[in-house]
Amino acid sequence: MIEMQNVRVTYANGEGIDQITLKIAAGEFVFLVGPSGAGKSTVLKTIYMDVLPSEGHVRVGEYNSLFIKRHDVPYLRRKLGIVFQDFRLFMDRDIFENVAFTLKVIGTRKKEIKRRVLRALADVGLSHKARVMPDEVSGGEQQRVAIARAIVNEPFLLLADEPTGNLDPVTAASIMDVLERINTRGTTIVMATHNDEMVRRYRGRVVHINNGQIIP
Ligand code: ADP
Ligand code: MG
Repeated sequence: MIEMQNVRVTYANGEGIDQITLKIAAGEFVFLVGPSGAGKSTVLKTIYMDVLPSEGHVRVGEYNSLFIKRHDVPYLRRKLGIVFQDFRLFMDRDIFENVAFTLKVIGTRKKEIKRRVLRALADVGLSHKARVMPDEVSGGEQQRVAIARAIVNEPFLLLADEPTGNLDPVTAASIMDVLERINTRGTTIVMATHNDEMVRRYRGRVVHINNGQIIP
């Protein structure tokens, strides 16, 4: 499903990741754990091919960083869901429209959009808030909207970069419950977090990363 082989990314300032070798099988829940600056986001960026390695390769499904063309990247992205710490919702659209956005972009039919959006909102427990604006719900609910938006196209892989980073522990736990449920239904999840303690409470494989390298 995902294979990273001896991956190096070096930013202009010399920082980055190096010698990252990692295999993730379909259906796994993998935590990438390490302190701020460890390289977690960079690893995720190579998986959604926002950043291409200068050494090694990344295979994600049928895509390979060595061969992918720039115009193929959007097609890879459509098969992934991505969630960030800061939610990244459209604040001028209601929750339904936020979740519907990508489906509209790719020309999904109206009836199908409605069906999928309502199902995704039900999956995150927000059916009753479809026509509410994002700034009228809590941070935890905004992150649920972001998760609904990420899963609405039924991705085989969900990437989450510190999805609980802005949330209090109780709300964070409820987001973890949502992610676990999504994983149980078969979606592979790779989640970056600096919160080592939280990870210990959940099932999943833990990959430790520090100074741009995996700690064996
Ligand atoms: P993490 O997500 O674990 O906090 P990152 O992957 O964001 O770590 O960063 C890894 C290292 O690369 C850090 O030293 C960071 O400062 C550096 N870095 C990340 N993004 C950039 C960038 N766009 N330009 C320069 N350096 C960067
Ligand atoms: Mg990060």
